[in-house]
Amino acid sequence: MNIHEYVAKSIFEKGNIRIPRSYMAYSPEEAKIKAEMIAKPVAVKSQVLSGGRGKAGGILFADTPKEAEERTKELFQKEIKGELVSKVLIEEKVEGILDEYFVSIILDRNAKKPLIMASMSGGMDIEQVAKETPEKIVKQYIEPLEEFMPYQARNIALKMGVDTSEVSAVGTFIWRLYQVFQEYDATVAEINPLMKTESGFIAADAKMAIDDDALFRHTKIKEFDDFKDEEFAYVKLDGNIAVIGNGAGLTLTGMDLIEYYGEKPATFLDVGGGASEENITKAINLVLKNPNVKVIFLNVLGGITRADDVANAVVNVSKEAEHKVPIVIRLTGTNEEEGQRILTENNIPFETSMEKAAQKAVSIMQEL
Ligand code: GDP
Ligand code: MN
Repeated sequence: MNIHEYVAKSIFEKGNIRIPRSYMAYSPEEAKIKAEMIAKPVAVKSQVLSGGRGKAGGILFADTPKEAEERTKELFQKEIKGELVSKVLIEEKVEGILDEYFVSIILDRNAKKPLIMASMSGGMDIEQVAKETPEKIVKQYIEPLEEFMPYQARNIALKMGVDTSEVSAVGTFIWRLYQVFQEYDATVAEINPLMKTESGFIAADAKMAIDDDALFRHTKIKEFDDFKDEEFAYVKLDGNIAVIGNGAGLTLTGMDLIEYYGEKPATFLDVGGGASEENITKAINLVLKNPNVKVIFLNVLGGITRADDVANAVVNVSKEAEHKVPIVIRLTGTNEEEGQRILTENNIPFETSMEKAAQKAVSIMQEL
């Protein structure tokens, strides 16, 4: 399981790996407050699980809290390699950068050993370095059953070619990274870039993946990471009708019906069996970010999910959303009278038959 940068950084912090001061923000307003707390220029970093955010435009900089708010708004409109941005790390901008190094530990499944890779040519072009000048990357297998000693880490730093005055500092980062790699049953632990600055070294980025089979030993990580948006099973497709359902089967059936009546789904979005009002609001807002979405087909069969929660979510979104698209709702199940009453009061039409709702979504689409 890949974990977010901010979670990996909190692990780094526990492992005494120096990181810049930072706070999470889940809205532009919150980003402003967090930037005020830092009271210095900040980096606004999209928290998505895919790498290469810098190149994809997922990292912006801000000199003032107001700017941090604006940059966050920009990022919230973006998709980084297909992932929507719904949270950012507001981090004190690293200044006085002299160089960017790279340290990575992966579990090499073929060798059945951890492999440390390190280079003085770190930063965003590390893939290119690996391809074109692989000799610039030091590789060292570690014997998993033997203790990894600090001098071995310093040897790697020496092989990287760092200045003798830096061997101890860089060696310490490598050694501590190996400690967290082991302690957290990681399959990946990476610092790129390990920034060399006028005031010493600092881990500007953090990447970690935890072995799925060992996750049961690390329940705190699961609690700590904000998996709210990953809770959704979300797949982007190339049609125009966003299909949201509670439960995979129901969502798939909704998609089939859309195709059956002659249109194509824009999403598969399963909000899960017990989705709350907040989750459904999030799901609708998520698909609204996709400009190809012209109609939303919300297919809910209330079980643990209550129809009145769904109705409230739809009412809220239709009041607040900037980008408005017609929503066709199929709503039945737990608390359906209450849900239907809320929708009627707010002049939002609904259907109780899934077929009728799908048909309606398609005909709205075809009349647009
Ligand atoms: P990635 O692209 O997803 O690996 O994201 P990183 O966190 O590694 O950031 C990409 C690049 O942005 C880094 O290689 C740096 O060059 C730059 N960068 C990131 N954070 C800072 C920062 O705090 N200050 C400065 N000046 N540059 C940064
Ligand atoms: Mn990076």
